[in-house]
Amino acid sequence: MRQPFILGDVEIYWLEGGLFEIDGGSMFGVVPKVLWEKKCAATPDNYVTVADFAMLLKTPAANILIETGLGNKLTAKQQQIFRLRREWDIPAELERLGLSRQQIDHVILTHCDFDHAGGITMLDGQERLELTFPNALHHMQRDEWEDVCAPNSRAASSYWPINFEGLVPGANLQLADGDYQVAAGVEVFKTGGHTRGHQGVRLCSQGETALHLGDLLPTAAYSNPLWVTAYDNFPLDSVAAKEAILPGAFARKIWFLFYHEPRTLACRFGEDGEVSEEFSEVLLR
Ligand SMILES: [Zn+2]
Repeated sequence: MRQPFILGDVEIYWLEGGLFEIDGGSMFGVVPKVLWEKKCAATPDNYVTVADFAMLLKTPAANILIETGLGNKLTAKQQQIFRLRREWDIPAELERLGLSRQQIDHVILTHCDFDHAGGITMLDGQERLELTFPNALHHMQRDEWEDVCAPNSRAASSYWPINFEGLVPGANLQLADGDYQVAAGVEVFKTGGHTRGHQGVRLCSQGETALHLGDLLPTAAYSNPLWVTAYDNFPLDSVAAKEAILPGAFARKIWFLFYHEPRTLACRFGEDGEVSEEFSEVLLR
């Protein structure tokens, strides 16, 4: 039986949302390879492994997902381009935990790039498109949805309309303007930076706190506020958000939850930004 990460009275599980490889330079931006390679191994042709771990939060009040993974709609060519190594498997992952996808109450998107939003919709056995979590209220910032609906030319390559078919604001899509409580102890807050409407998630339970900073902190390697990916559309906003959040969070020893980290799924940092305690788990297949 898989062991969850426990925060107060919340159980957290990392679900297989797909695993792929990506150019290391695009992940680490202006950070020299001699520095990032100490924290993240690269292949001989400079690729790094990137997980897409959707997180299930089982709280006393609700079943909540943060992010949805790559989804099952990638073409064979896209799978080759993105060097897909493990396929999206979230419905089966939920079943292994005794849940169906119909039992997810809330889906929180930190932002809508395809590697986070690809599992909002899925193809069924007859290749028909449907909402993966038909009974869930989906949550994102209003700015993010505006950019999904009218992307600039750079964002358009990552906001794929097929991932959002069936989402209707005011019905199954809740648009936030800044801070907003999704459920008891689970709040979103706008950070901007990676995208204009990027948001983080704060989880509080029984005096303990964990933060999910989406792609501002995709893995533990990014604890330096100046380390931002080359994909960040507003890098100075990313730096400012991290400078505002991280030092205090490190001092308070709060937990961080990671979406793109293949091994260290959650950790605490010391005030020097180095990992001081970590949670990792071997996924049961
Ligand atoms: Zn991402």
